[in-house]
Amino acid sequence: MAYSYEAPVSQTLFDRASLVTPGGVNSPVRAFRAVGGTPRFMVSGTGPYLTDADGREYVDLVCSWGPMILGHAHPEVVAAVQDAVARGTSFGTPGEGEVALAEEIVARIEPVEQVRLVSSGTEATMSAIRLARGFTGRAKVVKFAGCYHGHVDALLAAAGSGVATFGLPDTPGVTGAQAGDTIVLPYNDLEAVRAAFAAQPGEIACVITEASPGNMGVVPPQDGFNAGLKEMCAAEGALYISDEVMTGFRTSKAGWYGIDGVRPDLMTFGKVMGGGFPAAAFGGRADVMAHLAPAGPVYQAGTLSGNPVATAAGLAQLRLLDDAAYAKVDAVSAELRSLVGEAFGKAGVAHTVSAASNMFSVFFTEEPVRNYEDAKKQEAFRFTAFFHSMLEQGVYLPPSAFESWFVSTAHDARALERIAAALPTAARAASEATS
Ligand SMILES: *Cc1c(COP(=O)(O)O)cnc(C)c1O
Repeated sequence: MAYSYEAPVSQTLFDRASLVTPGGVNSPVRAFRAVGGTPRFMVSGTGPYLTDADGREYVDLVCSWGPMILGHAHPEVVAAVQDAVARGTSFGTPGEGEVALAEEIVARIEPVEQVRLVSSGTEATMSAIRLARGFTGRAKVVKFAGCYHGHVDALLAAAGSGVATFGLPDTPGVTGAQAGDTIVLPYNDLEAVRAAFAAQPGEIACVITEASPGNMGVVPPQDGFNAGLKEMCAAEGALYISDEVMTGFRTSKAGWYGIDGVRPDLMTFGKVMGGGFPAAAFGGRADVMAHLAPAGPVYQAGTLSGNPVATAAGLAQLRLLDDAAYAKVDAVSAELRSLVGEAFGKAGVAHTVSAASNMFSVFFTEEPVRNYEDAKKQEAFRFTAFFHSMLEQGVYLPPSAFESWFVSTAHDARALERIAAALPTAARAASEATS
């Protein structure tokens, strides 16, 4: 597909990258495969804006897939990082910064009595599942189709399939043995969970779910879904793991837990808590966390876990995220959702703006979207046209119809005006698109 605008420097960089890196990227969705065209190589970011290698500026609605909730290069976060870097970048010993970050997490999120820091959301979910298995002495894990928990082998079973499949690996390289203990169920379907527990009494170690899914587009839990999971887990002696890598410290001060109040046994965090650096965590009940090495027998470790620069960035960011900051992000999101809805309405495009707190995405359908199967029924080809029109007009959206849009405290009136100015043309492009 050809586009009317060009990105010659990004194209040159992408050509170079493709010679030395598979697909030219270090994380697949960055490659624009879902929408076509040349991925933009960014060289700088400030507030709500990104500048690419061709010198074009964009209003950023990806925010690094969530972490940059204060916008890019927030002066106080940058200062904290500079201060930490100047004192050395890694010691391989305990340090005060990681204690302070752990204290901040424990203070904000009541079910987290103890926490272990890691370097990525993938590590957090992988470790939480190992711990759940070690704690319960059981093997099986329930996850939901369309929920993404990082690229953990066992959790890539049917991660991209909406079918209620029992333990079929989703990618070459994941063996049947690694995925065979994973039970994949349709999201928002408590009956399916009940049936799985009934079919495998005493075998299920944990149920892991995104607290409010943002990786199949934004599909919030229906009323009572998370509470029902928690209740069934408690009754069956399984652990309820809430993956808040995306929602944590974003959807409220206490993440999604701060919204629905359903108390998980274990929780996982990443993205916002790292302030743009690789810092993530898992935590929860003290009696469960006590099973983790060196306190207990379940092994888990990391050379760069609790890295002083990453923890300084995360701590600086979390300390700036007070009630006023969340009110700002929520207000920006609400205004943007209404602008988007209005533009599609005027262009006569069938759509649903689906929100969970300040996270949202657009489904090109007016049918209800409760799970991944529903999400896949949308007219995703309309998103491709919409995406490229927005990109051409200087608005950077996630390059897939199945991703959440993210805003920050830095998205001010000027940034919103630029988006508003771009929307009518892009909505028209979506309405005119043909599969
Ligand atoms: C991003 C994400 C992960 C994986 O985190 P990485 O830091 O990319 O490994 C896990 N779970 C959820 C819900 C996520 O959104």
